[in-house]
Amino acid sequence: MQQLYVNQPFPQDWIRLFTHLANLFFEQSKIVSELTDDETLDVRFTEDTELPSVSVELRWHGKQYDAQFTEEILATEEREIIRQRKRMYSHVLLEVLEQATGMEQEWGILTGIRPTKLYHMYRQDGFSVDEAKQLLQQRHRVSVRKSELIAQIANIQLKALPDLYTLKQEVSIYIGIPFCPTKCAYCTFPAYAIHRKNGRVESFLDGLHEEMRAIGRWLKEHDIRITTIYFGGGTPTSIEAEEMDALYQTMVDSFPYMEHVREVTVEAGRPDTITVPKLKVLKKWGIDRISVNPQSYTDETLKAIGRHHSVQETIDKYWLSREQGMRNINMDLIIGLPNEGLAEFEHSLAETEKMQPESLTIHTLSFKRASEMTRNKDKYQVADRKTVGQMMTRGEEWSKANGYIPYYLYRQKNILGNLENVGYAKPGEESLYNILIMEEAQTIIGLGCGASSKFMDPATGKLTQFHNPKEPAAYILGFEESIDRKIAYLDEVFYSTDPIK
Ligand code: SF4
Repeated sequence: MQQLYVNQPFPQDWIRLFTHLANLFFEQSKIVSELTDDETLDVRFTEDTELPSVSVELRWHGKQYDAQFTEEILATEEREIIRQRKRMYSHVLLEVLEQATGMEQEWGILTGIRPTKLYHMYRQDGFSVDEAKQLLQQRHRVSVRKSELIAQIANIQLKALPDLYTLKQEVSIYIGIPFCPTKCAYCTFPAYAIHRKNGRVESFLDGLHEEMRAIGRWLKEHDIRITTIYFGGGTPTSIEAEEMDALYQTMVDSFPYMEHVREVTVEAGRPDTITVPKLKVLKKWGIDRISVNPQSYTDETLKAIGRHHSVQETIDKYWLSREQGMRNINMDLIIGLPNEGLAEFEHSLAETEKMQPESLTIHTLSFKRASEMTRNKDKYQVADRKTVGQMMTRGEEWSKANGYIPYYLYRQKNILGNLENVGYAKPGEESLYNILIMEEAQTIIGLGCGASSKFMDPATGKLTQFHNPKEPAAYILGFEESIDRKIAYLDEVFYSTDPIK
């Protein structure tokens, strides 16, 4: 545990921010209000409100490090002023921590999960590409390499969706099916082992059909179009082929302007759920975008993370999906799975190379609070920061050499090596839904278990979140109320003249 003494009493949210920044350098950190020993980082801030600037002196192990940051405060709203001051304090703290530890944080002081959204905001505010990159570097201490990556991704996104900034009058739909054959150790999604005996699956599906019909009715009545539809979960192919068929029938019957929907995707994630009858159902409804997710091509790893399928099954199901007409297949790999290093990741890339899926998402393992892996962290040996960084760089090189371009990126809390997740695609094969959800470009209506909805006020861009119940039992009891709540939100964002509370 690394202690940091800070010379001023700060509010709790500031303390949390400083702790988060210190945690980028140390396994675990704590801010203390008394300087007790030499091991403690002695941090002294000074603010000059006239300039305005923030300076810091850091003393540690007999050495002193200094930093200063000056920036004009243009905001007039109190909230915005506080936000900028926090950014200035973070800026100098990160700088001295980098000096003291010799570690570079490529994402600088960014704590949010959507760095590309920040870049798009700068662009929409009228800054040029170069100015937006400079703002990332100067204000947020993002490295030149990462700011170039962000700009490249944003450019690809605007090619895939030229109307990205003006899609606020449409919506996208997310449909969550909360069942999986088994639960993966790192997962916190609503994913419940599928038991067919107690009628839970059937009751859940009854509720979901009802939700789809009710939301479809509202969209039709208000003449609102759907940009993309995404079936996720869980694993949406864990239900029977006939059940999938019935859901797509309801989708086509209930949703308006289906001919204008730009993309429908079904996560077939777990290879052990993919069968010929299910692929035939997808094809029947014109759905040919799926995900077949290997995560790793090492059998021992799959066993260690609780995925009860083999590497061979992933490969077989990939080719089966191709034979059955799936035109656009995404595959996911995860960097930093237990006992994996560069060699295992190289092997995963080599196997992927033989298949050449249209898109590949390279995730970095993150320790989510409620996952089995986090609860029993000691049981799992994961690669160190340096190795994880090398794997990510290797993923970048491999993707480039194989004709993939990065098209979306997001970060998570407690992500290994403070890295990121990057979606790569062959040109023109990007998932539009992934772009829309990452950039928070329009309202996303979530249906089904654990599905979260984000309602965007088209006039102000303000977002309001609503979550459907995560557990099937709670969903079955509460879906009618969820429908009412979502319709009320839709009425408010699209038709109320009063801003949403
Ligand atoms: S397949 Fe996906 S949703 Fe299901 S348990 Fe594994 S990570 Fe979670």
